Amino acid sequence: MFNARDSFFIDGGWAAPKGTETITIINPSTEEVIGRTPEGTNADVDAAVAAARRALEDPRGWGGYTPQQRADALHRLADELDARQGEIASAVSSQNGMPISVSSQLETNYPSAVLRYYAGLAASAETEERRPGFLGMGDTLVQRSPIGVVAAIVPWNFPQALTAWKIGPALAAGCTIVLKPSPETVLDAYLLADAVTAAGIPPGTVNIVPAGRAVGAYLVSHPGVDKVTFTGSTAAGRSIGETCGRLLRPVTLELGGKSAALFLDDVDLDLTKIGEALVTACLLNNGQTCFLNSRILAPRSRYDEVVDAVSTLAGSMTVGDALDPATQIGPMSTAAHRDRVEGYIAKGKAEGARVTVGGGRPAGRTRGWFVEPTVFADVDNSAVIAQEEIFGPVLSVIAYDNDEDAVRIANESDYGLGGSVWTADSQRGQAIARRVRTGTIGVNRYLPDMAAPFGGVKASGVGRELGPEALAAHWEIKSIYV
Ligand code: NAD
Repeated sequence: MFNARDSFFIDGGWAAPKGTETITIINPSTEEVIGRTPEGTNADVDAAVAAARRALEDPRGWGGYTPQQRADALHRLADELDARQGEIASAVSSQNGMPISVSSQLETNYPSAVLRYYAGLAASAETEERRPGFLGMGDTLVQRSPIGVVAAIVPWNFPQALTAWKIGPALAAGCTIVLKPSPETVLDAYLLADAVTAAGIPPGTVNIVPAGRAVGAYLVSHPGVDKVTFTGSTAAGRSIGETCGRLLRPVTLELGGKSAALFLDDVDLDLTKIGEALVTACLLNNGQTCFLNSRILAPRSRYDEVVDAVSTLAGSMTVGDALDPATQIGPMSTAAHRDRVEGYIAKGKAEGARVTVGGGRPAGRTRGWFVEPTVFADVDNSAVIAQEEIFGPVLSVIAYDNDEDAVRIANESDYGLGGSVWTADSQRGQAIARRVRTGTIGVNRYLPDMAAPFGGVKASGVGRELGPEALAAHWEIKSIYV
């Protein structure tokens, strides 16, 4: 059982909840209740937004911080997160089933590295620039100021990493934040609140109210919010986009995906060389990762070899309790999500695809929401399992005729978030990568780079996170003609 928390982090302190609902946190590896927290209401969101507004406008608080002071604050926050690495990793893995070997990297030292990256950008940011006027009509001062109060809504799959993607650029730009974590992952958000306090960040700069969808929707439409940054499902993103469109409110949407891994005909399939990179690209975090390459495109000339390699890889993964350091595939995050993933496996079988490995629940596991890593061969790209995001350890291998055909199939998707090209010839891989309609793609590897923009095209989203692009998305820009 984790430390019970009975309040929300608002205005730099602990505020009693204004409602009576609670969130019960269940460990998906064991099905045991491991914690309870209050569930936020609209009234709690009102208090959080008001605190964020006050902090934004307080010349003696966050609103008066220079870019260098903001950078120093981000460094202190990164240090405080580092001091809590063990606790954070175990809180995340106990809530969402992420293998501890993954959370110990991507949910701990990675988020603090993102904050340090944005500290660097904050310190060097040009908040005012003088541009020589066109046609000699005088100069223009281009002023960049914080866009204001940011509503940040995150999902459960990488709660700390995705929060850092939002907090880093927002604080670097001088904004204040109301963070709404997903009800599945709240314990780590409390540890973040402890880190914000210990880092001496002024009251109201970061406020945290865990709550469900309806309260999230209320936050999105709140009159005190100036920008929304959302990561989650495409369905929720569409609804949030509609609200922001009506309000003319800037919004960044990081949504779902169904990305393709293109194996070219010259690929070296030696798993001792590419196995680790393939797991990261295709199965990271039990398949519960937005950018995963869950469609494997294989040339007909080497189709059986690719199916064998991918099946061997998936079949060799150790399934187990997320807190066991040996675990490579943990449970699905909730019982309902496990049912959903199993529904897709049943649909794949019914559509006539061939299961080469997995396809059921791991033997001997009577507790926990586990699904075997599963590979389907003989999948047509129009099949439901090739078109819809499953968000579990389920891969589909699809045959193609030539490079042209591979690019066509990769692009025949409603989504466009990640992708990868696997080849012995990096130049050839880059040429193919340029033709895939997606926001990000790797050659012989895939993992987002914090210094480069990350985001999707089509139903995968609007706008970009990471890189200087995310900082730019948190500026209000004004031209003063002098
Ligand atoms: P979800 O959309 O159900 O929930 C995400 C968050 O949004 C939660 O905090 C939820 O409470 C809140 N929410 C849901 N509906 C809302 C609404 N109408 N208004 C305001 N808030 C709302 O998604 P999930 O199941 O938690 O996460 C999985 C999804 O997230 C997958 O589709 C995955 O691909 C996507 N995802 C995308 C990225 C990316 O960077 N593109 C990263 C991680 C996850």
